[in-house]
Amino acid sequence: MAAVNDGATLHTSHIVWLLLLLLATVTTSSADLVSDLRGHGFTGPVYLPHTSGYERFRRVQNAACNILKPLVVVRPLTPRDVAVGLQVAQSHYLPVSVRSGGHGYTCNNIKNGSLHFDMRRMNKVQLVHEYGAKVEHAYMNGERLSFYVV
Ligand SMILES: Cc1cc2nc3c(=O)[nH]c(=O)nc-3n(C[C@H](O)[C@H](O)[C@H](O)COP(=O)(O)OP(=O)(O)OC[C@H]3O[C@@H](n4cnc5c(N)ncnc54)[C@H](O)[C@@H]3O)c2cc1C
Repeated sequence: MAAVNDGATLHTSHIVWLLLLLLATVTTSSADLVSDLRGHGFTGPVYLPHTSGYERFRRVQNAACNILKPLVVVRPLTPRDVAVGLQVAQSHYLPVSVRSGGHGYTCNNIKNGSLHFDMRRMNKVQLVHEYGAKVEHAYMNGERLSFYVV
């Protein structure tokens, strides 16, 4: 009976130890990820779970997709931010997901455990024209787009 109890205690303590190790690993990798992004010059906002903004920028239009939880949400401001995000995701062997408006039906714009790009901050298009200078505006998914025709 004692042996059974000992075995059960050992088994439980192993599980607790493994859970703590897993928690530490997840926490460390999230911190490493942010530090790598910043270290490589990522300038846009970065949101980890349980930080302000994560829920807001994670959610997409289709509520059925909202069970999917990226490891981190990033909001690139420049093409270089996109390149840095991809490079860091690759170096951590993370899947990547990309959302724009988030209106797709199929939930393929968000993935569990991913480095998730929210592209809505990159909403400007520059058109180069040889005549005059004019600024045009349009709206997409409720957000204003600026077209600079120069
Ligand atoms: C109510 C409703 C009505 C709709 N009606 C129409 C319709 O009439 N006609 C029609 O054609 N479609 C329609 N759709 C479909 C919808 O417009 C498309 O799914 C469209 O792709 C959504 O664009 P989004 O910017 O929201 O992209 P998301 O839903 O954010 O993403 C769609 C796909 O594009 C990828 N993606 C997004 N941004 C980028 C990026 N910057 N770089 C690389 N990949 C990217 C995502 O990973 C995902 O695979 C409708 C959807 C809804 C919910």
